[in-house]
Amino acid sequence: MSLSCCSLLTPVEEDREFSLDDYEGARARWCPGCGDHSVLTAAQRLLVDEQLKPEETVFVSGIGCSSRFPHYMKTYGFHGLHGRALPVATGVKMNRPDLNVFVVMGDGDCVSIGAGHWVHATRYNVDMVALMLDNNIYGLTKMQTSPTTPQGYKSNTQPQGSWLPALNPLEATLGITNASFVAQTAEWIPAHLFATLQAAYKHRGFAFVRVLQRCPVFTEDIYLDAVRNPETIDLLTHPDGVEVPESLKQIYPNQMRHDPANLSAAREIAADTSRLRLGVLYRDESNPRYNETRHLPLHTAEDKIRILNEELDKYAV
Ligand code: SF4
Repeated sequence: MSLSCCSLLTPVEEDREFSLDDYEGARARWCPGCGDHSVLTAAQRLLVDEQLKPEETVFVSGIGCSSRFPHYMKTYGFHGLHGRALPVATGVKMNRPDLNVFVVMGDGDCVSIGAGHWVHATRYNVDMVALMLDNNIYGLTKMQTSPTTPQGYKSNTQPQGSWLPALNPLEATLGITNASFVAQTAEWIPAHLFATLQAAYKHRGFAFVRVLQRCPVFTEDIYLDAVRNPETIDLLTHPDGVEVPESLKQIYPNQMRHDPANLSAAREIAADTSRLRLGVLYRDESNPRYNETRHLPLHTAEDKIRILNEELDKYAV
């Protein structure tokens, strides 16, 4: 587990203008062609667009290829334990509601070992953006079946093919009480990816975004057809969803009007896996947010030391 922060995170004058340089951390070490690069670029662009102060922004991750994300951002970051990104991020937001909190997880991290946290973070609806980068495999551990691996897909742990139908993260999230924002995008469509991240950031509550992510090393063929044939994709359109640029509409001729306020329709769209649907499936800002309904006392640094010492003194012998 490691805490990281940038040496430049010194609050200075208010009239600063941020550029990409202000958010670019270490050189990304993902494989060439990995979809994670595209998500990193989109996230950095979002921060520039929204002019988020690096010292007021934190990226939290667990374990997996995509979880190296915080190292590549020049913001605060926490690269933690497998599956535990969401409780860490919840703690951060509860104690520092002024921070912009982003969570980056892989499919294994989020819907396997971290599944319990994913369910409860969705229900707690704490204000943050949660990105699940779904490459359908455990990449860091060299091609092990994950919950979203398609049935029959061969891996090192299930060489005869995945035994079970893949878990559907959209359908599952939409089934969780108090879910408030569920979207899907694809990293190989940068304009859509960026617009979706922007919609998620502007949402007040827990914004869950599944990002379809290519892994050219272990699951190269899974999204190949969708990448090559834009007509296999439906873009969900609505003024309350993702704003699809005209240029994109020409490339992706299939659009489907969908009102994100309609939960039943969102569930139907999520359940139908015969086509890839990209956009905001569901959004409801009227749901209670735990970070607003449960107020934690704001302690000074001195208070925290005192409380910690009092706790430790209980075990004095
Ligand atoms: Fe990306 Fe796959 Fe390489 Fe991991 S193994 S960095 S997911 S391409």
